[in-house]
Parts: sequence; structure tokens; C-alpha cells
Amino acid sequence: MKAEIIGVGTELLLGQIANTNAQYLSEQLAEIGVNVYYHTVVGDNPERLASAIKLAETRADLLIFTGGLGPTKDDLTKEIIAERLQREMVTDEDSWKKIQEYFKKTGRYMTANNEKQAYVIKGATVLPNDHGMAPGMFAKEGDHYYMLLPGPPHEMKPMYRNYGRQEIIKQLEKVECIESRVLRFFNIGEAEIEDRLSDIIDAQTNPTVAPLAGDGEVTVRLTARSDNKDKAVVMLDDIEKQVQEKAGEYLYGYDDTSLMAELLKILEDREMTIAAAESLTGGLFQSEMTAVVGVSTMLLGGIVCYSNDAKIKLCNVKPETLEKHGAVSEQCAIELADNVRKSLNADIGISFTGAAGPDSLEGHPAGTVWIGMSFKEGQSKAVLVKLAGTRNGNRRRSVKMGCYYLLK
Ligand code: ATP
Ligand code: MG
Repeated sequence: MKAEIIGVGTELLLGQIANTNAQYLSEQLAEIGVNVYYHTVVGDNPERLASAIKLAETRADLLIFTGGLGPTKDDLTKEIIAERLQREMVTDEDSWKKIQEYFKKTGRYMTANNEKQAYVIKGATVLPNDHGMAPGMFAKEGDHYYMLLPGPPHEMKPMYRNYGRQEIIKQLEKVECIESRVLRFFNIGEAEIEDRLSDIIDAQTNPTVAPLAGDGEVTVRLTARSDNKDKAVVMLDDIEKQVQEKAGEYLYGYDDTSLMAELLKILEDREMTIAAAESLTGGLFQSEMTAVVGVSTMLLGGIVCYSNDAKIKLCNVKPETLEKHGAVSEQCAIELADNVRKSLNADIGISFTGAAGPDSLEGHPAGTVWIGMSFKEGQSKAVLVKLAGTRNGNRRRSVKMGCYYLLK
């Protein structure tokens, strides 16, 4: 399948914004074996957009448009495409409901052109917009496919990733089978994983190996194309083995999982309970754990012991420990984990104590965190992590680190 990406917007031509949407989509399409032959940019002008469409139809099977789906007069992408396909526009009820609800909830005044955002090309599959108002579309006409995506990258990317990609794969699967697997890594940077996997990435066109970064985690998507599913799965197994050889020690899960979800899975399987004593994380670990349904058999509870006084009075930390070693110390972390575990009679105790930042604490630079772990069966220990984020970034990352070290 050959594709052309058409960026619509005068601001792109004026150089006011860079066409990052085309870059993102090209990368994504390469992953599923779609060849992008042209990037076109056209202003918000009906005649020129219409001629860009006609030209693209002569050299591509799939035309992907970004931009011009909004409510203003210069947003005309879908109108021009509807005209080209000789189809009318109809109101998409779900999108229209969502728009009305938004205005009701925010108490803002709705103008007539807001309804325009819910218009879609008749017969097109609607791609929901989870981060904005204007829905996207996917339509087939003759030998061509048309995908309409919004301009703002924070709306466009999740729409493509969660809905658009699947529509293209459905079409591709009429002639070949496509299987994907997402590997999730933690405690390794994007640059390092790219470096470790560079030979594999460079050598592969099928399966493809594509790293993506996000929130301290790195994910690598493996995609294999073949004429049957079993063969594609074997190809994925093979390539995963190669990836594991290079970075397997950082792999913690597959597809839509998270560190917390993996930790809970293990606790459930082993019928183990956990308790937490949290200083710098202020209850964040327990908050994230309680966000998961069915956690009550695993999480017993815990203590937020932010001040030294709370560490002593609520968590029985010895005053000498704090005097001698301070709160940001291995000894304090271990006592916290031991004591919270024992007082709740849990199988595992975990503790977090450190300097969230921006200031240093007890002479330790911001981001110095001790994570204590105590086990009913086994030796208690604490690990030191050194983080370099913002205050809340460090707190969130401490929680992930805690899950990671318990998984290890
Ligand atoms: P809206 O509902 O916000 O009007 P839209 O789908 O109509 O969305 P545009 O009006 O064309 O999209 O563009 C909105 C904004 O999205 C632009 O101001 C720009 O910041 C961003 N944007 C548009 N096209 C691109 C692109 N190709 N690459 C990166 N950013 C883009
Ligand atoms: Mg717009």
C-alpha cells in the first residue's frame, strides 16, 4: 500500500509551525509496512486542496489528511473531501452529544459553527477524538482510502494510535496478516535501548522494531507481516528473542500493562499482602495501588509519615536511627518497611524516604531516595535511587521504582 500524507493549513506554509504530524505518521506507517511516497502541504484554500487530492489519487492508495477539522471557516478539509467523493455530510450523533455536553458542563456559549464539528462524511467510519471535539474519519471510495485526522498533535496522535491504525491494518489484512506485540521496559533510557537494539532495528524491515518513549518507560513495538497468522507469530517470537538477548533484563511486561499491574498480578498469584510506609511519596504508592480494581486482598494499608515525628510515633522508627543516620538513609528505610509490615502482619513492607526536591534534605541532593523492602520470609533491604526530575516527577518515579524493585 502506498500512502501520501497531506498537511492542510496555511500556517504550515507560512512556516509558523513545523509539519511534525507528517513525520509522526510516516514513522507509524513504516511500522506496518505502508510506504509513504509523498508529503504534501497545502493551505486552507478549497481549489488548491481539491487539486492536491486529485494529484494524490494518481500516486497513492491511502490519503491521510491532518488539520482543518475544526469549527472555524478556514477549516474545510472534510467539506472538500466530501465533495470529491460526492457524498453528503451527516451529523455524527456521538460527537454531537459530546460537544453539547461539553458546553453544558463548562457553561460556555455554543455558537452555530460548533455543530459543524460533529458533521462527518456519509458512510465513513468515525474515529473518536478522546482529546478534543472534532472526530476523525476513514472512508473508502473506489481504489482509494481517505483518513482525516485533526491538526493538533495531542489529538491526532492518540486518534491514529488508538483508532486509525487499526482501520488501516484491517484493509492490509485483506491481503496479508499483521501481528504486533509491545514489549515494556523500565529503568533503561530510550537512547540506551536504541543503542543496544541498533543492529536489530537497522537490519529489519519485516518484522519492524520501533522504540517509543514515555514517562520513564520505554516500549518497543514489534510488528510482523506474513500471509498467515501462525507464521507472523513465529516471526514475532524470533525477533523478541533477539531483543531479549540485548535488553531482556529490563523487560517487565507486554502490551497494555504497567509496573503496578504486574506487581499486583504477582501478589495475587502468590496470595501475598503488602503494607507501605511513605514519606516523600505521601501516599502515592497506595493511591496508585488502590486505583486498581480488586486490590483489597493484596493491599492492607499503610502510613504517611512525612515528618520525623510521624516516623517515630506512627512507625516506631528509633530516634537514634534518625539522629545517627537521618531520615534519608538506608537504616530509616529498612526500619520503616519492617515496622509497617509487622504492625499489619503483611507479607511485604515497602517504604519510601528521600528528598523529593527542589531543595536538598539533610545534605542529600534532591532526588535522593531510599526504598526499603521487608519480607516475612527473607532479608530486609533498601535500594538507593538517584532521580533528576521535578518534585512531583521524582515522587511518581519513586513509586514506579518501588514496583520495579519488588518485581526484580
Ligand atoms: P482545531 O479544532 O484545533 O481547529 P483542526 O483539525 O482544525 O483543529 P488546524 O486548525 O488545521 O486543525 O490546526 C490546529 C493546530 O494544530 C495548529 O495551529 C497547529 O498548532 C497544529 N497543527 C496543525 N497541523 C499540524 C501539522 N501538520 N504538524 C504539527 N502541528 C500541526
Ligand atoms: Mg482549525
